[in-house]
Amino acid sequence: MVESVFRTVSARYKTVQKQMKQHPYRYKNKENKWIQVSRDLTWLVKPIQFHRPQADLIRQSNYSFVDKMKQISMTTLGERTKLGFTNKGFEKYFAEDWKLGTAKLVHNRGKWFLHIGITKEVGDFDTKNNPQIVGIDRGLRFLATVFDSKGKTLFFDGQMILRKRKKFLEIRRQLQAKGSKSAKEKLKQLAQRENRWMTDMNHRIAKTLVVAYGSHTLFVLEDLTNVTFSTNDLPKSLRNSHRSWSFFQLESFLTYKAQAIQSAVVKVNPAFTSQRCPKCGIIKKANRHHETHEYWCEQCQYRCNDDRLGAMNIEILGQEWLSGVKHPKIKNLTTIG
Ligand SMILES: [Zn+2]
Repeated sequence: MVESVFRTVSARYKTVQKQMKQHPYRYKNKENKWIQVSRDLTWLVKPIQFHRPQADLIRQSNYSFVDKMKQISMTTLGERTKLGFTNKGFEKYFAEDWKLGTAKLVHNRGKWFLHIGITKEVGDFDTKNNPQIVGIDRGLRFLATVFDSKGKTLFFDGQMILRKRKKFLEIRRQLQAKGSKSAKEKLKQLAQRENRWMTDMNHRIAKTLVVAYGSHTLFVLEDLTNVTFSTNDLPKSLRNSHRSWSFFQLESFLTYKAQAIQSAVVKVNPAFTSQRCPKCGIIKKANRHHETHEYWCEQCQYRCNDDRLGAMNIEILGQEWLSGVKHPKIKNLTTIG
């Protein structure tokens, strides 16, 4: 148990380090330009704290199943303890192809929960297996616009999500105005509820994508590490909201769900994906008309929805990756005006 303390603490710092790297610090300078500063662990103002009691239990040495899986036997600070156990609803994870790993015992609101990590060996994504390529453009008006190598487009509408987030914001404002102790407690619960809801939505979108395209699919995403979205598409009330949609979470859910079915996720450079004409290759910012959400190529007259255009260019970068280009990106050689 003492050993596991070190593992747990260093794992948490690694996670936070990764999150900070994904979310650089941004501010507007005197010239009203956005400045971005990457963050590392030195930005933490205080050490990470663990508020809830928890213990990491290693399979076999700290916990094991006994009595034909009707009981679980666990190490505690006192003596080894046996508890009743049921795998109801989780039967498939106790089947042969899943391996049970380290479990985490956590205490929350008067109850103890045991989270068991599970792993499964799956075949690798095979680049030579003629995979279909799916370009995914993420944004706020459409959470995801998807274009595949067969020319089909899928849109994941962001409006319902925007409405719901507006509602969360309204309740938050009301509670903040009150400022009482119970309002503060409710604010905390509200934030947790919003997080759970966002996680659930990201799970659903990722699941819909892997179900729609299946095995041997290359999902192509833009590397959003240093990208911020234009908030012009958002209703005014949400523009100054600090809470951004967790596209990074969607990306990590999609990655593991894709890997589980021998598909893969690759990230490409986002430069010019909303400015290049996928038909003639010209890069021109003015071809994109924000008011009508349309891209209209001056050179070859190709017209299409601007979110779809992004997904098309991302799909093309996926083709390049598959043909061996390690870091495919659109090169700005043809810019005019
Ligand atoms: Zn064109």
